[in-house]
Amino acid sequence: MTNKQNKGKVWLVGAGPGDAGLLTLRGREVLEQAESVVYDALVGDGILGWIPEAARQIYVGKRGGSHTKSQDEINEILVEEASRGRRVVRLKGGDPFVFGRGSEEAEVLRAHGIPFEVVPGVTSAVAVPAYCGIPVTHRGIAPSFHVITGHRKNGEPAQMDYSSMVKEGGTLIFLMGVTSAEHICQELIKGGMDKNTPAALLEKGTTAGQKKAVSTVEHLWEEGKRQGIRPPAIIVVGGVCGLADTCSWLEEKPLFGEKILVTRPKRRSHGMAARLREAGAEVVELPAAEPRLIQKEEERAALKQAVLESSRYGWAVFTSPSGVELFFEFMKEERIDIRALGSLRFAVIGEGTRKSLEAYGFYADYMPGRYYAEDLGAGLADFIAKEKAQGSTASETVLLLRARKASKALTEKLKEAGIDFEERVLYDTETADVSPQAERVKNLLSKKAFSFVTFTSASTVEGFLNMLNPSEEEKEGFTAVCIGEQTRQAAEAAGMRTVVSAIPSMDSMAERMEELCRH
Ligand code: SAH
Repeated sequence: MTNKQNKGKVWLVGAGPGDAGLLTLRGREVLEQAESVVYDALVGDGILGWIPEAARQIYVGKRGGSHTKSQDEINEILVEEASRGRRVVRLKGGDPFVFGRGSEEAEVLRAHGIPFEVVPGVTSAVAVPAYCGIPVTHRGIAPSFHVITGHRKNGEPAQMDYSSMVKEGGTLIFLMGVTSAEHICQELIKGGMDKNTPAALLEKGTTAGQKKAVSTVEHLWEEGKRQGIRPPAIIVVGGVCGLADTCSWLEEKPLFGEKILVTRPKRRSHGMAARLREAGAEVVELPAAEPRLIQKEEERAALKQAVLESSRYGWAVFTSPSGVELFFEFMKEERIDIRALGSLRFAVIGEGTRKSLEAYGFYADYMPGRYYAEDLGAGLADFIAKEKAQGSTASETVLLLRARKASKALTEKLKEAGIDFEERVLYDTETADVSPQAERVKNLLSKKAFSFVTFTSASTVEGFLNMLNPSEEEKEGFTAVCIGEQTRQAAEAAGMRTVVSAIPSMDSMAERMEELCRH
């Protein structure tokens, strides 16, 4: 097959320096369409979580002592993947053409007649200083900036004309240079630079591991050593480093420096992740449990009948946003017009469920003050009793639309109050399959990379345990932040250190973490 009939193509995509928010829109778009993703060590963990599940994932960076694939091997993989007709995304840290060898890969692809596109990325040379409060230019301080390799060849630092760099008077940014930092600074001073010129070493910028050592070109190396700065890091030399305090902003955010694992079901995880990123955390998403609409014929028939006879009921009750979404998915699959629900009133457990329902054009008629199953049961029973006392003749029968494994607290309260109810199973919660993302998360857990893991239901705890099977030591590495008491009990029973949010909402969970970080 020639390549013309073959849809095989490669996108050379810059993933930015780490923060998932710095992947470009175009980058995200092509990533979502990828059938094969070939990625490096410096691509952010949050971004790797966005690789489509069905895509082949090929890691070509260094990990835990094993060696990096050679450039020739990487080229071969790209040619091979594209020749099989796949849409290949070659995901690289920063920008693919800034010391990224992207152009070498483009040459090889051209030679093989494989079409490619380039999606530029946010380079660490500019973004890492920016996240550390260092502007690469500043009027009156730096009229230019220069991005230079600090890479050693065979252990020898590159031969460069340091005196001409010094003469330019711009900001000097060295990539891949941590191990040569001492040499670089000495050469700059030899080349005529004032030894008191501000300079900085910036490690793992834009991630939870971001560290900065600011000093003078004379003492930078010692300061870096004192603070234990390690690769990946960049060296910035120039007066602009003097602005590092004035212009710092990320370090002030409440969750700066925290790496958080969010285990919500896939379709629910983005809101939580965005909330935590906003607060300065680095977020990795691992859908640990997936709600799935019931499949069995009899169950679907029972649900359908309840919907078609909805005028028999006074109320329908939803206890999760997933329940709402799956219910309307069911309506669509069965091609039932929503006007069939016209006479029903809706009760929801809390804010998230209420919002999901509004997205379908239904405004909840009842929501309890505290978002717990027993409050919903008792409150709804009260509400119905009051209406009846006022002479209402509306149907009192309540239709519960919930997961198979749902809290008994709700039904107990309804029973106690003598309220008539019927249950229809709407969905099951299944543990997600083991995936490359789960393997990466397992690896991060073993390094104790996460300070917090969030759980929004007992089934996410179960899914997390099934997928990752964490050791006692790995469990000690993080605090489990739980949405409510039931979830907390499940996490504690599994041997995790737990905290519970004040109220069961994502906001409250985020606030709980912010509180813990203040102490
Ligand atoms: N194409 C990349 C650079 C690849 S070379 C880009 O445009 O950013 C790899 C070097 O980039 C590392 O040795 C380090 O100097 C720098 N680097 C990449 N990501 C970094 C980060 N998050 N923090 C600090 N330095 C980083």
